[in-house]
Amino acid sequence: MLVLGIESSCDETGVALYDLKAGLIAHHLHTQMAMHAEYGGVVPELASRDHIRRVIPLTEACLAEVGKTLADVDAIAYTQGPGLGGALLVGASVANALAFGLNIPVIGVHHLEGHLLSPLLAEPRPDFPFIALLVSGGHTQLMAVRGIGQYEVLGETLDDAAGEAFDKTAKLLGLPYPGGPLLSKLAEEGDPARFSLPRPMLHSDNLDMSFSGLKTAVLTLSKQVEAEHGEIDEPTRKDICRAFQEAIVEVLVSKSLKALKQTGMKKLVVAGGVGANKQLRAALDQAALRRKLQVYYPPLALCTDNGAMIAFAGAMRLQYATAPGSYSIKPRWDLSTLPAA
Ligand code: ATP
Ligand code: MG
Ligand code: FE
Repeated sequence: MLVLGIESSCDETGVALYDLKAGLIAHHLHTQMAMHAEYGGVVPELASRDHIRRVIPLTEACLAEVGKTLADVDAIAYTQGPGLGGALLVGASVANALAFGLNIPVIGVHHLEGHLLSPLLAEPRPDFPFIALLVSGGHTQLMAVRGIGQYEVLGETLDDAAGEAFDKTAKLLGLPYPGGPLLSKLAEEGDPARFSLPRPMLHSDNLDMSFSGLKTAVLTLSKQVEAEHGEIDEPTRKDICRAFQEAIVEVLVSKSLKALKQTGMKKLVVAGGVGANKQLRAALDQAALRRKLQVYYPPLALCTDNGAMIAFAGAMRLQYATAPGSYSIKPRWDLSTLPAA
């Protein structure tokens, strides 16, 4: 059973082939980051147009890599939501048109379920149940995951997502778009002892989080430093990046441990773009070692948006595959409404 997966929810076109027996056999990705950089953010119309340009060549590249043709594909999974409407429509239209021509079924996949299940594409593979820390550009949630489609939100950010906080903070520090990964790179060389920023909601008695204040705290700190020492030099900027990262990582680790303790679960699965953050991974691994917990991550390349997670989630939901034809997208879509699989 060979599933073709297509991701086009935002600014990455991802295509992959997942075989129920052989696993992930091919995945190709095109990121539009460079294209949007000049505008300092994703331009939806440009995103849609670029998905149109990329999706077929990426599909052909996947098939060619493993010596297969479209005739070998048994079902097509595509990101149905949430995401940018125009961008989603490209993947949905291509998936349905291809499937219609091939006379095979389609499966509309929830983008966040894709992220959430992506750690199952790595070895060792976690068994259910587990706590999932979903930390992406648009979402930050702690979930109890008892099976595919059985997601209970235990806590979430009340304002900015963790990735969004990375990106916005990077922007106000003058880093080029997309700032999150770059900020984290600079933070690695910063001194953790020089500045200290607040840990928002660290001691709240729930699992909710808040990151928008942290961004403001960085702005205040930067202004303070500028007032005292003049323009911020490179080492100081690295120290500020480090202070920001220290704060956000401590909150994410602390809330994750709290979720594990509260539910009595022993496994934590991290998913989404911020899951690529080295300091977060190191801090979680260290905390887990001390408490005899297991932490699982997606392969590094599959933390941010990709087609592999969509092909995989689709393969797990084949029971919900339908005939192609009329289709809809869901730019807003609540993960907890998914049926169990
Ligand atoms: P969503 O999945 O919620 O719709 P998204 O698809 O934009 O949002 P992802 O692709 O999962 O989010 O992740 C992108 C985010 O991850 C960006 O905000 C980016 O800054 C952040 N990110 C990527 N790498 C790192 C890193 N090493 N450290 C911190 N943040 C990172
Ligand atoms: Mg992206
Ligand atoms: Fe995403």
